Amino acid sequence: TTGPTAVEGAGLDARARELDRAHVFHSWSAQGALSPMVVAGGLGSRVWDHEGRSWLDFSCQLVNVNIGHQHPKVVAAIQEQAATLATVAPSTAALVRGEAARRITERAPAGLDKVFFTNGGADAVENAIRMARLHTGRDKVVSTYRSYHGNTGAAVVATGDWRRVPNEFARGHVHVFGPYLYRSEFWATTPEEEGERALQHLRRVVESEGPSGIAAVLLETVPGTAGVLVPPPGYLAGVRALCDRHGIVMILDEVMAGFGRTGEWFALDAHDVVPDLITFAKGVNSGYVPVGGVVIGEEVAASFDERVFPGGLTYSGHPLAAASIVAALDAMAEEGIVDHARRIGTDVLGPGLAALAERHRVVGEVRGVGVFWALELVADRATREPLPAASMARAKSELLARGLLPLTADNRIHVVPPCVVTDDEVAEALEAYDAVLTLLDEE
Ligand code: PMP
Repeated sequence: TTGPTAVEGAGLDARARELDRAHVFHSWSAQGALSPMVVAGGLGSRVWDHEGRSWLDFSCQLVNVNIGHQHPKVVAAIQEQAATLATVAPSTAALVRGEAARRITERAPAGLDKVFFTNGGADAVENAIRMARLHTGRDKVVSTYRSYHGNTGAAVVATGDWRRVPNEFARGHVHVFGPYLYRSEFWATTPEEEGERALQHLRRVVESEGPSGIAAVLLETVPGTAGVLVPPPGYLAGVRALCDRHGIVMILDEVMAGFGRTGEWFALDAHDVVPDLITFAKGVNSGYVPVGGVVIGEEVAASFDERVFPGGLTYSGHPLAAASIVAALDAMAEEGIVDHARRIGTDVLGPGLAALAERHRVVGEVRGVGVFWALELVADRATREPLPAASMARAKSELLARGLLPLTADNRIHVVPPCVVTDDEVAEALEAYDAVLTLLDEE
């Protein structure tokens, strides 16, 4: 096929910017001075604009394109489903929805056998909290200061990162300091000590708040947006034991960490822990159609055998979303994509980033697993003072100029390529990071 010429392409990019500026209200932004990049297409680990400029996508958009852009099997499945049955009410028994739910529950721990489908991650968290409150008859939800759970009523209050933003929904939410050794405010000096510190703190908060009023402890298995904070060994098992002691529902949010990101189907697989509810979205179908959901353990599910669950969504288990889940999970299994992500993390990306940290004093810490990494950048290694925002902005534009689409947050570069990223693409990305870190060192 023939694409637009460079001249036509420049016109399309300009038109995209013009329409965007005139009519699109953007998430998480002051609308006045926005100048978003144009993305016209993509394939695998790359995206491009209309003019033919291309970038290695080491952001995965919002850490969701786990299977890579435009996977042919997933695209075909969506097209076929659209031609057969493009929409159907959630109250029906649609074969494709059942097939999607079965594939998700087969990957979840035993005993979590049902799926409530939502339109994305925030409403998955919203409904998980609702289930926990109805199941326990309690109100409070404990989550961490360093977390992101979405931008709807309860999910945004549970989100620690956004407590700086005033909002109208706060009710019954309590926050704790989860494990984060590099910036532990306390006495911990090893991952194990930091895990124990965080558990002791959580125990005291639960006791002080009154366990009989706490519906749920809600944690990202690996907090993502807040900095890719892989929990220390034993921490999640300790939380499980605490929840068991007090009849508290344990919710693990796997919206970002699930479906290959950590080199596991679910991130919790590496932590020997079985929660009561799992929230998912993003990687389950790589975002080709908006979808999320809650995987529900038998105890909570049984609560709603006789009693009505009052939640629901017009598009719950939408056929296009379901078809894309079936195709994406089958392709991931057939093509060994989860194992590939684990190998990339262990053999290529992890060692490559560790080598960068040794060479560049601006890197305070490298942490992560699979294709889920963060470089925490500092102005001073001794004091760990975060790299200022202006330097982070420069890092972003210098990476873009070198053909790499990065994800940055606060003083971190999140290194989050698709699970299908190749060894050569990792090498190319490491070169770009290396060059830009050199500039930051000099600064
Ligand atoms: N939970 C986690 C862990 C997330 O990372 C996100 C999105 N970044 C959400 C929930 C919210 O998902 P969505 O944006 O699809 O509502």
